[in-house]
Amino acid sequence: MRKICSLLFIILLILPFAVYSQDDEEKIDPTLTEVWEPVPRVVVPGDGNLAPSDAIVLFNGADASEWLGKDGNPIKWKIEDGCMTVVDKTGEIHTRRVFGDCQLHIEFRTPVKVKGESQGRGNSGIFFMDRYELQVLDSYENRSYSNGQCGSIYKQAIPLVNACRKPGEWQTYDVVFTAPRFNDDGILIAPARMTAFQNGVLIQNNFEIKGNTVYRGMPAYAPHGKAPIRLQDHGNPVSYRNIWIREL
Ligand code: MG
Repeated sequence: MRKICSLLFIILLILPFAVYSQDDEEKIDPTLTEVWEPVPRVVVPGDGNLAPSDAIVLFNGADASEWLGKDGNPIKWKIEDGCMTVVDKTGEIHTRRVFGDCQLHIEFRTPVKVKGESQGRGNSGIFFMDRYELQVLDSYENRSYSNGQCGSIYKQAIPLVNACRKPGEWQTYDVVFTAPRFNDDGILIAPARMTAFQNGVLIQNNFEIKGNTVYRGMPAYAPHGKAPIRLQDHGNPVSYRNIWIREL
């Protein structure tokens, strides 16, 4: 009986406060927390995978003028059937323009005729700021080291899953890349970051990049500014199409 009495007492004690706080909350003007400025600018989304209105189209299937070879001359990759394809030993290509923080959409296709294994099958790659490689590889039933398979940030980050389509099928990468920050003395104050979707599947989630991509040894940072996007010639006839970028 005593217990019930004290419980009732506590309830009676708390009740007015509960009622009061609810009333009190209803007195707060909800418009006080509405933010009206600034107004986001309007971007018209593209149809499907097509470029939104504020994107720079880097390759539309025919015009490769946004790209240059390593020597600064027009690219020697094959441009045919709405895509550009690596021609062995013609070298890597890079954008004329330089970029920092960006959203990149790029479509790629590894050769339908399966040849080679591990790193020798459908190898290419997308280098952000000329340094940080998101790997392109035929990783469909093709085992290689996990931090070098398709969707890896080469030798740094294993993709969260293997979302590869079959060789010969077009695939998409949608990437959000954040450039590294250096102070005036060239000291790294914030590393680069990457979030990437392959065929709509999250494969890299805000990964903190450890430094430039290297085949041997450990990655490291050296101060740099904006730089081109580079596509790798690894000797395999990998194709690219529908490439667009939004500067962030
Ligand atoms: Mg590669």
